[in-house]
Amino acid sequence: RIVYVNGKFVPEEEARVSVFDRGFMFADGVYEVSSVLRGKLIENEGHMTRLRRSLSELSMQSPGTDDEIEAIQNRLITLNKLDEGLVYLQVTRGAADRDFIYPGENVKPTLVLFTQAKNVIDNPIAETGITVKTVADIRWARRDIKTVGLLAPCMAKMEAKAAGFSDAWMVEDGYVTEGSSNNAYIVTKEGTIVTRQVGNAILNGITRRAVLALAEKHNYKVEERLFTVEECYDAAEAFVTSATMFVQGVVKIDGAKLGDGKPGKITQQLRELYIEMALAEVS
Ligand code: PMP
Repeated sequence: RIVYVNGKFVPEEEARVSVFDRGFMFADGVYEVSSVLRGKLIENEGHMTRLRRSLSELSMQSPGTDDEIEAIQNRLITLNKLDEGLVYLQVTRGAADRDFIYPGENVKPTLVLFTQAKNVIDNPIAETGITVKTVADIRWARRDIKTVGLLAPCMAKMEAKAAGFSDAWMVEDGYVTEGSSNNAYIVTKEGTIVTRQVGNAILNGITRRAVLALAEKHNYKVEERLFTVEECYDAAEAFVTSATMFVQGVVKIDGAKLGDGKPGKITQQLRELYIEMALAEVS
């Protein structure tokens, strides 16, 4: 696999980052994951806009313009002959002597990108759905910034996995925040789609925004509000969204099996609508 690091496209074995890189020392870095269908990026403008916001919230220098970054993403897709999968991109504040104070402007950000092949559309999980365990959300208070400090969600997912579940839904003050790496939704018995409102407590998902717009366009009632774990147990359906999973059904939350144990009708329709939108973008 060819990866990109600070201006160079190199075989992954040859890619090097300093041990003094602040991404390594402080998790002082941000990232984006864009999905790829038919060799083309999906919703990349949204990912670039969110990257700008993450950089700006952390007063981090930008590694380039949107066009320059997109050109690197596309070049990497071509070099790796990627048809379907994802492009990961990470910006850190760069390498400097270890100090909590940010280094000066002379320290340039580190930019790393790689690709991963993956079946995004024909994902077998779309048929079966996933199971989720609710766990305490022990993350920091700025989850709207997409930083590489991901140990808390790793711990959450490990806790879920140890108990036999596919993923974790994180809970704060009795309310679901989001999944370990996705936004979380329930569909009530009345057919209302409920997901937490954006703010500092969750990541403002690019897929979330598109899926909510599609839901409203197709006359579903959408409520962006807090929802409790008890409401989850009582839901007709549940699902998650992310750039690499699109829309995935949730069939069990803790001990509560939802519906007939398969991804629900509304979930499946939203998945189809999102796939249709994504395919239209690349054709
Ligand atoms: N929440 C969290 C915590 C995530 O890590 C992700 C995936 N990056 C999402 C939500 C979904 O965001 P997106 O739809 O932009 O991939």
